[in-house]
Amino acid sequence: MKIFFIFIFFAIVALNAQTLTLGVFAYRTPEKIMQEYKPIAEHLGRELNVSVIVKSLSQEDLEKELFEDKIDFIVTNPTHYLSLKKQGKTTGAIATLVKRYNNVITPYLGGVIITRADRADMRTIFDLAGKTIAIPNNKMLGGYQTQAYELSKVGLDITKDLKTVAYKTHEATVAAVLLKKADAGFIRSGILEEMIAENKLNPQDFFIINEQKSPNFPMKISTELYSEWTIVAAKKLDLDTVSKAAVALYGYKDTQIGNDIISAFTIAGEYDNIDTLARSLRIPPYNFIPPFTYEDILSKHRNAIVIIVSLTTLFFLVVGFLYRRMRLEKKYAQSILDVIPTPIIVTDGKMLISANRAFLNFVEYKTTEAFRIQHNCICELFEEGDTKEYLHTDMNEKTWIEYIVANPEQEHKAKITIHGITRFFKVDVSVVKYKDLFRAIAFFDDISQLVNQSTTDVLTRIANRTHFNLLFEYSVSIALREKTPLSLMFFDIDHFKSVNDKYGHLVGDDVLRSVAQLAKQSLRKSDIIARWGGEEFIILLPNTSLSSATHLAEELRVIIQNEEFELIEHLTCSFGVAELEENESSEELLLRLDGLLYCAKANGRNRVEVR
Ligand code: GH3
Ligand code: MG
Ligand code: MG
Repeated sequence: MKIFFIFIFFAIVALNAQTLTLGVFAYRTPEKIMQEYKPIAEHLGRELNVSVIVKSLSQEDLEKELFEDKIDFIVTNPTHYLSLKKQGKTTGAIATLVKRYNNVITPYLGGVIITRADRADMRTIFDLAGKTIAIPNNKMLGGYQTQAYELSKVGLDITKDLKTVAYKTHEATVAAVLLKKADAGFIRSGILEEMIAENKLNPQDFFIINEQKSPNFPMKISTELYSEWTIVAAKKLDLDTVSKAAVALYGYKDTQIGNDIISAFTIAGEYDNIDTLARSLRIPPYNFIPPFTYEDILSKHRNAIVIIVSLTTLFFLVVGFLYRRMRLEKKYAQSILDVIPTPIIVTDGKMLISANRAFLNFVEYKTTEAFRIQHNCICELFEEGDTKEYLHTDMNEKTWIEYIVANPEQEHKAKITIHGITRFFKVDVSVVKYKDLFRAIAFFDDISQLVNQSTTDVLTRIANRTHFNLLFEYSVSIALREKTPLSLMFFDIDHFKSVNDKYGHLVGDDVLRSVAQLAKQSLRKSDIIARWGGEEFIILLPNTSLSSATHLAEELRVIIQNEEFELIEHLTCSFGVAELEENESSEELLLRLDGLLYCAKANGRNRVEVR
């Protein structure tokens, strides 16, 4: 047996065959326990007419003997009582001890935290963190558990944040503190007073940490108060014996002199805060986490749990409802956007956030995400146009959205070519700002038809004269500013009247279309061909010198001359070529060109006239 025990016979009634055993948790030396419980055993023996043995045992041994039916009554501390109760081998508390310390009596106990008086660094419970603490042992309610629970209340974990060293007894614990073996010590209430009374301790030598003032409690205390030790009976005992024992205990009156004496027994006290302490510290019977966590929490906090579960459920229901509603509304908004034939996008100024079906269909992407993978900005698709009249990536160092927002009076247009098909849009932007969030909604109104109608010749599908004039003016200004050459070529079909006369207007129209296409095919991308009127065409050649333009005209003359047209077979054209001269206006250049064409006709047709 680990912890030794002593048993003493009190053969009050020597002839009586029945013997009862009173097991006492050995919180002090066996001698001290025997001395303390001798009068009680005598009293019980007298009242019950039996002999009573006292055994001073560790908690483990008490339980072992109880299990082996070797014990009839147990006196132990409240946490151990709770643990015993759970094991179901004992009755409930029969009585609670009332102790006398010198001249005061109390049915309560608690824990004391002491340090040396000269430890100025140890004044509050928080100062215990990281320190070495002397304790009697960790089974003690007043010498460990009550202090551990106080520490847990302020967020300190006795097993992790402090180092505890067991000195077996309370006296040794006090000595360890005074001898500087530990920074502080945990002892049961009443010990200090007893040691002082016995002249073993000087009140000036120690300091109480976390001292609590309790008017009903006559001793130094650092923790909550708990009900004193209790006495329980083994379940195997008959009810009659238990009742008689209870009556005998309630009638007990101490006769001893001295300190720390069991004065009386009173009806079983409240052990609720012990239960809380045991749960908090996970000491027996709450040392096994799973049954503790679920069962006990449920039974102890049923109302709170019901409320929390209900509120949580309600919260998720509401969130779920709102989320579904939001998704529905988003879907609804998206479906409205999707039936609008105008391409609409939402952007943060650069990136595409969302787009409607019309936009995605136009750019030929299935989803917004798919578009985003390929393009950082929609503006990557923008073409600036021949005269930079359309939106493009770098609008005076602003993003295209910033540019539109900054210039609300202007009409903004975008030109986008997808798979060779060019479309034109009037772009309107409305901005939504909320705190840091910036969203621009852009509407792309398709004006391709209008643009085409106003710029393209219906018969030949090349630029019309109005559009040409616009481009011509722009090209002249660029050429003058950048000092680059700009040439013009003007040509007219020879004897076209006779084509009409001979084959009819429809054939004439076909010929006009064919000539326009032939000319277009022989040009560079930057050159612009337009129908000037009737069977007259004009070609704008930016960045082209007179000699290059002449060369091009000569090539074109030969191409047309050699072309085999349907029905009419062959025809020719006459050309005038000129380069813009310094200080020459666009009108003057056109006049000069007209004169050159006239010369070409006059000089025999199918020829190029230059100057
Ligand atoms: P020249 O060699 O001097 O240029 O002789 P021409 O017959 O080509 O010149 P003229 O100015 O006498 O005739 C131009 C003709 O072009 C007259 C008109 O019927 C024809 N024409 C003008 N516009 C069209 C058109 O859109 N379709 C057709 N089929 N013919 C057109
Ligand atoms: Mg003609
Ligand atoms: Mg003509």
